[in-house]
Amino acid sequence: MNWQKGLKVRVESNAPLRSKTTFRIGGRARWFACPKDAVELSLLVRAAKKHRLPVYVLGAGSNILVSDKGLKALVIKLDSPFFNRSCPSGTDLEAGSGIMLSRLIRKAGALGLSGLEFLSGIPGSLGGALAMNAGCFGKSIMDLVESCEVMDYNGRIKNLNKKGIRYGYRSSGLSDYVILGATLGLTRKDRAVIRKDEQDYLRKRRSTQDAALPNAGCIFKNPEDSSAGRLIDLCGLKGRRIGRAQVSRRHANFILNCGNASSCDVVKLMNSVRRQVKNKFGIVLEPEIKIWK
Ligand SMILES: Cc1cc2nc3c(=O)[nH]c(=O)nc-3n(C[C@H](O)[C@H](O)[C@H](O)COP(=O)(O)OP(=O)(O)OC[C@H]3O[C@@H](n4cnc5c(N)ncnc54)[C@H](O)[C@@H]3O)c2cc1C
Repeated sequence: MNWQKGLKVRVESNAPLRSKTTFRIGGRARWFACPKDAVELSLLVRAAKKHRLPVYVLGAGSNILVSDKGLKALVIKLDSPFFNRSCPSGTDLEAGSGIMLSRLIRKAGALGLSGLEFLSGIPGSLGGALAMNAGCFGKSIMDLVESCEVMDYNGRIKNLNKKGIRYGYRSSGLSDYVILGATLGLTRKDRAVIRKDEQDYLRKRRSTQDAALPNAGCIFKNPEDSSAGRLIDLCGLKGRRIGRAQVSRRHANFILNCGNASSCDVVKLMNSVRRQVKNKFGIVLEPEIKIWK
């Protein structure tokens, strides 16, 4: 299929996705491209639309499970310098969607700008965090957003202000678009205090989460007024294993890749966990991770 004719951006074919995810699972993308800026991106999504090619936007790959069969699709990753920028304006911080949260938090801290500390330790990009409305410790990133620049799948750029964006627990209307960047409203604070708060959040995270083996963070969303991890734990499922995928013994809402786990192993384990939680508590767990197949 010669859908790339006339495009300047290099499009890789049959690109491995496994190494681009924190789960270290998955096959290849039929097409893979890293546009250098919004103009290249616009041409790319328009060409894909014209040829009815499904498009997936990959951030840091920390909340996805990619099928072992790979994807007959175009996967786009926004990691050029243009999408990695960050620029303060008063107490606002404008940043491209490809920047890693860790880098953004460091930059804000160095400028004495506070607000992002609670996200310390989340291994995602700004775009992924906005699409998922990432959060923890009772806060979420959308609370900080002043405005967001997005591109629709016709290649048109839009500026959305906070009021124009619907969002909820681990979901945001921004995921209907390719997110280009956002302006975050922060507050001034002493740099040493920001640094200490970051360290405290990191310590809390390390005391509960399992970082020993590849994973994708929490697999299921917390049901209202409950904790998915606690329900799974109460079913006695910590350590339960299918193939090379295992429910973490430390955090029951984490599934670990114990080495060459397949996407099938993970899906079977997720189904088994859901079944047992439903049977015991009558609660249907909803996946938090995105399954790309
Ligand atoms: C150890 C560990 C701990 C974690 N802890 C937390 C936590 O405490 N809280 C939390 O909320 N999450 C947590 N996560 C999950 C994950 O890190 C976050 O959801 C993160 O924000 C996802 O960002 P990403 O860049 O990796 O997105 P990806 O995993 O690459 O993508 C996730 C979704 O976002 C979409 N997306 C990515 N970039 C864009 C873009 N530019 N435009 C449009 N859509 C886009 C993708 O298409 C996909 O649907 C954790 C994960 C791990 C591995």
